[in-house]
Amino acid sequence: MGETSRRARVCILGATGSIGRQALDVCAQHAEHLEVVGLAAGSDAKGLMDAARRFDVRNLALAEGSPETRAQVCALDAATSCEFGARAVEELAGNSGADVVVVAIVGAAAIAPTLAALKSGARVALANKECLVAAGSLVTAAAAPGQIIPVDSEHSAIFQCLQAGREDEISRIWLTCSGGPFRGYTRDELSRVSAADALRHPTWNMGPKITIDSADLMNKGLEVIEATWLFGVAASKVAVLVHPQSLIHSMVEFEDGETIAQLGAPDMRGAIQYAMSYPERWEAPAPSPDWREMGPLTFDAPDLDTFRCLGLAMEAAHVGGTMPAAMNAANEIANAAFRAARIRMTEIDEVVEVVMDATSPATVESLEQIFEVDARARRAAEACVEELAR
Ligand code: NAD
Ligand code: MG
Repeated sequence: MGETSRRARVCILGATGSIGRQALDVCAQHAEHLEVVGLAAGSDAKGLMDAARRFDVRNLALAEGSPETRAQVCALDAATSCEFGARAVEELAGNSGADVVVVAIVGAAAIAPTLAALKSGARVALANKECLVAAGSLVTAAAAPGQIIPVDSEHSAIFQCLQAGREDEISRIWLTCSGGPFRGYTRDELSRVSAADALRHPTWNMGPKITIDSADLMNKGLEVIEATWLFGVAASKVAVLVHPQSLIHSMVEFEDGETIAQLGAPDMRGAIQYAMSYPERWEAPAPSPDWREMGPLTFDAPDLDTFRCLGLAMEAAHVGGTMPAAMNAANEIANAAFRAARIRMTEIDEVVEVVMDATSPATVESLEQIFEVDARARRAAEACVEELAR
């Protein structure tokens, strides 16, 4: 993707969300390198149309479109095509003609579009972690070496650290974690927080689901599993390190005891841009820190007694097979129930645990099987939420 070659064509799935909008910012800043050719969203028709107009994009997909939104989007202009439904998102992922597909959809809904994007041969700049948690063996099997470039900041950091050594030389991954807004809380204090408290996250401005996952540390558990698939390491080699300043985005310790860290501003655009520019580096998307003014960097171990989601996810990683898919689905339901004020934050891990206990893990064989496990876990989680909400 050098200055002399043509611009890379970019398709953004989940274009109206936190990562999607920041990916569009990167495309705007680096218009000499990047051309947006496809956009998909869940239900935000207005956001999708605004982005399509701003970047003059003709290929659109909306997963959930009512007849009214359909009419609106179709009236955009004659040259614009917008297809509707989950299948339309999957088709756009595979057929937009993009060189890079940014997967910024939230949740397991990203599995099929990610597989379609991989099948097209495009580079996949992967922000979505749930697809690796639920279907990591299928997603990585569908990817050519180097086809997936991580966008999740910790995994982008690890990927960058791995420019200094090989995957088979990793002795440990230090996966950093801000600790979330409730770091230091007791279990009892955590049981009394509201979704509004959690949505006031200090460092990052993220979508609602991951904001809650970051507050109860499920996000870090999902990231442990994500790391095992991206870098071919066992979960036992991934150590979670609480680092509240969020300046070290993660570290890789190699067999010889040497550790490489990646540091940067707590701004997702750095990781998003690198996933598109790699192996090149382009002008910074955000001001870089002046380290003389950054103050001390501190480290701590996570509190697994208060934040039980992290332990449950690590257990799911350990069990393997279909267990992480069930765990992830249960968490999606419980996370949404907490946001809707139906259950307490500490009941999220209760729901996840109940569903994991009821799951007999099997070896992953097919996508249909994963979808079945996912659907069964969602039903069980929903029943558990009903019980708790009573
Ligand atoms: P968000 O809620 O802000 O945005 C989600 C996007 O996905 C929206 O555009 C929505 O319309 C779209 N969407 C939802 N369902 C869809 C479907 N079925 N088909 C197509 N599009 C659909 O979420 P976010 O914070 O941008 O996070 C997106 C993903 O990136 C998540 O998996 C999250 O874990 C991961 N991630 C986010 C951050 C961050 O800083 N926000 C950091 C690391 C990883
Ligand atoms: Mg992350």
